[in-house]
Amino acid sequence: MKIRVAIDGPGGAGKSTMAKALSRACGLHYVDTGAIYRTVGLAALRAGLEPSDGEGVPALLGKLDVQVQYEGEEQHMLLNGEDVTGMIRTPEISAAASAVSALPEVRAFLLQTQRDLAAKGGVVMDGRDIGTVVLPEAELKVFLTASPEERARRRFLELREKGIDQPYEEVLREMNERDRRDSTRAVAPLRPAENAVLLDSSELTPEQVLERLVSLVREKSEGRPEPCA
Ligand code: C5P
Repeated sequence: MKIRVAIDGPGGAGKSTMAKALSRACGLHYVDTGAIYRTVGLAALRAGLEPSDGEGVPALLGKLDVQVQYEGEEQHMLLNGEDVTGMIRTPEISAAASAVSALPEVRAFLLQTQRDLAAKGGVVMDGRDIGTVVLPEAELKVFLTASPEERARRRFLELREKGIDQPYEEVLREMNERDRRDSTRAVAPLRPAENAVLLDSSELTPEQVLERLVSLVREKSEGRPEPCA
């Protein structure tokens, strides 16, 4: 089995940026699981539902076909055949994804999809419960964090780059709310796996975080073909 890397942590910690960089450096396949929850969040909103609706959303799942496809290394999300990749990065969908992801039926619905994507190994997968629930057997588990202020600052800049001008204070408030909901929910709450490596990126450059991740992959790959360039 080729290495499976699980990167979990709160929003804005740099998981997707670092997971992508690591996938390139080590020839791994990158899977963004947040995008899958975002797609269900979008489906709930489109159906006119409150994303936290514990009856309406589970009833909707039977009508949803959520597919993950790759064009080269680029992940695309298909909702009932429609490519919705460009529509799921708004603050509204972030909040909807966080709300639907607290429903046990939604987590159960998406579990196998996520496991299938990692079945062949050679993957780095980022999310909230990859090391604890989705891939408890992952060879390397990393819990990537940063202070709430630093994470909000990064998210603020990321949104601005996309032309979304949301005030910093509001980004911080929404981020704190999402953190609270993600870590206090009854099923698969956000927490480090027991054997996860904790990595705080507040004071580190992306290059330093990548260096650390690459050396962890090397360590865990002992005895396997060297994966990283
Ligand atoms: O990582 P991203 O910000 O795209 O995730 C959106 C939301 O999806 C998170 O706030 C979280 O509630 C949920 N999520 C989850 N489990 C995952 C990935 C994302 O609950 N593995």
